[in-house]
Amino acid sequence: VTRLADLPATVDLLIIGAGTAGLVAAKTAAGFGADTLLVEAHRTGGDCLWTGCVPSKSLIAAAEIAQSARDGSHLGVHVDGIRVDFAAVMAHVHGAMATIAPVDSPETIEQSGARVVIGRARFTGPRRAEIDGRPIAFRQAVIATGSAPTLPHTPGMEGVSVLTSDTVWDLTTLPERLVVIGGGAIGCELGQAFARLGSRVVLVQRGPRLLPKEDENAARIVTAALEDDGVDVRLSTEVVRVEANDDGESGILHLVDGTSVPFDRLLAALGRFPRTEGLGLDAAEVRTTERGHVIVDRALRTSNPRIWAAGDVSGLPQFTHTAGVNGSVAATNAVLGLRRTVSDVVPRVTFTHPEVAAVGLQPSEAAANGCSVQTVDHTHVDRAIVDDRTTGFTSLVIDGRGRLRGALIVGPRAGESLGEASLAVSAGLKTNAIASATHAYPTYSDALFNAAVADVRERLQSGALNVAVRALSRVRSWRVR
Ligand SMILES: Cc1cc2nc3c(=O)[nH]c(=O)nc-3n(C[C@H](O)[C@H](O)[C@H](O)COP(=O)(O)OP(=O)(O)OC[C@H]3O[C@@H](n4cnc5c(N)ncnc54)[C@H](O)[C@@H]3O)c2cc1C
Repeated sequence: VTRLADLPATVDLLIIGAGTAGLVAAKTAAGFGADTLLVEAHRTGGDCLWTGCVPSKSLIAAAEIAQSARDGSHLGVHVDGIRVDFAAVMAHVHGAMATIAPVDSPETIEQSGARVVIGRARFTGPRRAEIDGRPIAFRQAVIATGSAPTLPHTPGMEGVSVLTSDTVWDLTTLPERLVVIGGGAIGCELGQAFARLGSRVVLVQRGPRLLPKEDENAARIVTAALEDDGVDVRLSTEVVRVEANDDGESGILHLVDGTSVPFDRLLAALGRFPRTEGLGLDAAEVRTTERGHVIVDRALRTSNPRIWAAGDVSGLPQFTHTAGVNGSVAATNAVLGLRRTVSDVVPRVTFTHPEVAAVGLQPSEAAANGCSVQTVDHTHVDRAIVDDRTTGFTSLVIDGRGRLRGALIVGPRAGESLGEASLAVSAGLKTNAIASATHAYPTYSDALFNAAVADVRERLQSGALNVAVRALSRVRSWRVR
């Protein structure tokens, strides 16, 4: 790590925040030979590594094993006396983070050619900033400060130490009764995982359904799956008041429907807000939206032509893969003066069981965009049948020319099947490209393959192509007589 005192007066590229967006931006810029400085206030690696994707997917992995053991009797395997050692589960969670951490360490980044400084950065002008009070000038800058969990402001909440995705990883004992507030991706993933590990979970969602950003049928399947795992899902309700116990952790939630829910721990999963406080955006002449996101154009440039933004702070889809790709785009544009633009094709996966994986246009948007939908229910997918996991479906959204414009997959490992659909959507491939590629059997991707085959068949059976194929077949049958 570079010491503040050793910094030059001016750098080519100043990157603020060493989460996925900042890390990728730094490596990209250093690779181009730019004099790059990456500033991180806390620890390099950001939310994905320390509080987001890595710990949550590690916890989900343990929860899945617990559930598979319980479920084994469906397939004739009886596992008795399942015991979850929560401390050991958390040791696995922290072990996964420790294994991945070196990839994002200051040493690794410095090896790529960028300087790394630990400190808090703040803009003091359109081309100037300071790091822990030490002034520095920049030719270009990338804002990659990410986002933080939103806290609830319900009366009484101040008396309870509310867990968020920032702090839940510090738990050492499994909460017996856990209330999760918020039914988006994070609330559903963590609520289900804790239920599978043995907590009694109540999930409170203000809106009428879980996963409001996802397809309604997908959300219905996930809701049923959570309930099967013992989660008490309360929809269309809100917390009006909290009564805290003396321990500062447990208490009773009072809901707007008049019911009350006792809890040992409370987990807020209410969405995230951009981290821009104290960043000096006004001094930098960088404009933000009403919700505080840094406004960027499609090349990720802010209202200050020398400053760019990538990752959660930019208000674009809040995923690690978006942060990474856009970090690279921002750094490339800043350093090389190019105008690369961000992609509209952003795949996303909710890692519940079953998973919900989506890219591009969704079935509900098909008609309005002149597209049709091909759906294969997983009751017809041999892999799902042999695994005894037939709850789910694969839907392809296809335009009039047969190009794949979107996909929605609900099922085990749906995220793994999504890559093929994402490639097809971003490359503008047609269903016949998927249908003519041999797919290994039996895999969950058979569903996508069969949906594509069904579409190709339908197209063959209608219109001029059908006439031509039938004529060819007739000619052939005369000739081989
Ligand atoms: C529980 C959970 C699960 C998730 N699961 C997934 C998933 O499975 N897949 C997926 O794609 N995404 C997932 N996400 C989202 C993903 O973590 C984020 O989209 C991603 O981490 C955003 O990266 P970023 O670089 O924009 O910001 P961050 O990772 O938040 O990094 C920003 C960095 O900037 C630093 N910083 C802030 N202000 C300053 C300052 N003034 N000076 C210096 N440094 C500063 C911060 O300390 C931080 O390290 C999950 C998120 C959560 C919370």
